[in-house]
Amino acid sequence: MSGISNKELFLQHVAQTSAAPIGLEMKNASGIHIWDVKGKKYTDLISGFSVCNIGHSHPHVVKAVQEQAAEYMHLIVYGEFIESPQVQYAKLLTDHLPPALNCVYFTNSGAEATEGAMKLAKRITGRSKIIAFNNAYHGSTQGALSVMGGEYWRNAFRPLLPDIVHVDYNDDAVFELIDSSVACVILETVQAESGITVPRKEWLQAIRKKCDEHCVLLVFDEIQAGFGRTGSLWAFEQFEVIPDILLLGKALGGGMPLGAFIADKKLMSTLTYNPVLGHITTFGGHPVSCAAGKAALEVLLQGEYIQQVHQKGKLLQTHLQHPAIQHTNSYGLWMSLKFKDEMTNQQIVHQCVKNGLVTDWFLFAPDRLRIAPPLIITEAELTEVCATIIMSIDEIVNES
Ligand code: PLP
Repeated sequence: MSGISNKELFLQHVAQTSAAPIGLEMKNASGIHIWDVKGKKYTDLISGFSVCNIGHSHPHVVKAVQEQAAEYMHLIVYGEFIESPQVQYAKLLTDHLPPALNCVYFTNSGAEATEGAMKLAKRITGRSKIIAFNNAYHGSTQGALSVMGGEYWRNAFRPLLPDIVHVDYNDDAVFELIDSSVACVILETVQAESGITVPRKEWLQAIRKKCDEHCVLLVFDEIQAGFGRTGSLWAFEQFEVIPDILLLGKALGGGMPLGAFIADKKLMSTLTYNPVLGHITTFGGHPVSCAAGKAALEVLLQGEYIQQVHQKGKLLQTHLQHPAIQHTNSYGLWMSLKFKDEMTNQQIVHQCVKNGLVTDWFLFAPDRLRIAPPLIITEAELTEVCATIIMSIDEIVNES
């Protein structure tokens, strides 16, 4: 196979779902930086899509991975043996969650966590109807795709789950829909792929109240919003609403694959009977992933990173001013910049990459540029990043 570049092999043998992948060949990563095989350094402005909240290959996480891999890796399917990394991570997570979120089912991914939560809600309530939101993303498997909020993305894969009702995020119309036929309402605590949409606090609280009145379960997806991104460990803390089921993923594994749905033990125990093994996974809660995730959370909790999020977010807002930026949405260290159209945004994204910044767009907002750097980024680094973004915008705008 000599003479064929990795790029050609990538395009031929690795399944492609995008006609225009970024396609950079990377060599190593550390902290907020990634280096390509030619030695060019990039600042990671999106944290591998909100995974690397404490940066890449943090030494505490690497050590935990190495030690656990040397001890044992896969032993048996989820939930049979007592595996210390799972137990200790579940304890650390639940110590930092409200009392009703005390039992963790570890999965392989965010999508599997969504699947598990929907099954749990159906099993507990005996109902099938699920309320979800337009512009929501909860994963790409068929159940998760059914609650995804966009017909363009769903249509080619029908039939999907029946009994799913979609409504606009932040719209009071949802209140009329929550009744005793509904199993659960599923929403992102802060909606990510719409380009960052923050819920009204009263709206979220009213949904909670309606769900309580009709014994409907409330599911919050913090797969992207969790782990400090919004300025608190969990985004829901800032809205003073506690879900019945919490979905985690991405940063949960500290760079290793891991997801989870978390609920009260009494609710979760319905997966134990009739049928037994109500959710089965071979690799969910892999010991190396749990060891990595626990180490990453320790780093996040020990530093001042979460406390600094709002200040760093404000710095972005101050520095990212340009006539071509039509609008910004932001929450915590998480921002979207809206340009006049998708094409302009694509050009600016590519120009940023050329100038050494890894960024991207949003699924439901292709005209918006994504900013979600590792939370460990310093204010000086952020100021530099902002200057490079403004320079990249200038280069594109002045060219056209
Ligand atoms: N939920 C949200 C809010 C997400 O952003 C994602 C992934 O982008 C998922 C669920 C699905 O997670 P995964 O890609 O691990 O299946």
